Amino acid sequence: MTTPAESAIRLNRTFPVYVTMFLFGIVTLSALVGVPAYGMLVGYTWVDWTMFGLLYVITGLGITVGYHRLISHRSFVCPNWVKIAFLIAGGWALQNSALKWAADHIRHHAACDQDADPYNAQRGFWHSHCGWLFSDERYSDEKYATRLKQDPVIMWQHRYYVPIVLSGLALPFLIGFSHGGWMEGFGCFMLAGVGRTFAVLNSTFCINSVCHLWGNQPHSQADSSRDSWLVSLLTFGEGYHNYHHTYQSDYRNGPRWYNFDPSKWLIFTLWLFGLAWSLRTASAAEGKISNL
Ligand SMILES: [Zn+2]
Ligand SMILES: [Zn+2]
Repeated sequence: MTTPAESAIRLNRTFPVYVTMFLFGIVTLSALVGVPAYGMLVGYTWVDWTMFGLLYVITGLGITVGYHRLISHRSFVCPNWVKIAFLIAGGWALQNSALKWAADHIRHHAACDQDADPYNAQRGFWHSHCGWLFSDERYSDEKYATRLKQDPVIMWQHRYYVPIVLSGLALPFLIGFSHGGWMEGFGCFMLAGVGRTFAVLNSTFCINSVCHLWGNQPHSQADSSRDSWLVSLLTFGEGYHNYHHTYQSDYRNGPRWYNFDPSKWLIFTLWLFGLAWSLRTASAAEGKISNL
């Protein structure tokens, strides 16, 4: 176990800006140049595409259900082994540890559109999309991490974040390798490792950029958050961002049955099987939070 002081140091030192820049540059360059070049010169197999799709869904839901609705907003409760599974899946998305991600996100809600908002959309599309990653200002969110540090599962994932990331990159290589040797191992790594990471990163970024710039505000105009069903198609339901900012602890982002929100469907399915409980819902009419 670490003391709170040690935990604070660990949080501050997780991925300094130059490491983030280097990793982000490598992933972006490889995804935009290497992935299509390999596709044209060698080609991808059905195994590569299947792994791309599977890992897009698994790591995407790891972020939306695990990092976002479970850890950041406590919109439901689940057994530790389910939480661990979500935090491993979320870790594979290369979006930092759940501790750091959720601390940033809680600050986003607490100071939306203000200087302290890490992805402040008032500073323009690129800052809110990914420019904020390279800003030193993001290392000042200790007070938003206090509650998170009480959770041993979150601290476990924070401590073993690097091995979790490496296992997520090794997985597509090993699947490809077992199907077609070294060449296919590399191909599967490129498409389902690098290409998928880039795709999931940008789908998450769109919530902070697109969903604070374009879309409707049917629930509240208190901040710049907007609903975008289009972004929901790419982000497992997170595009209903105006509803989410208005009722942030609701386990649903799209509250209507016809809203495309696979994250809420997964949480509800877990509830049906007894693997999730205390699902929090807001009554839009009354503004109350209740538990399912
Ligand atoms: Zn937001
Ligand atoms: Zn949120």
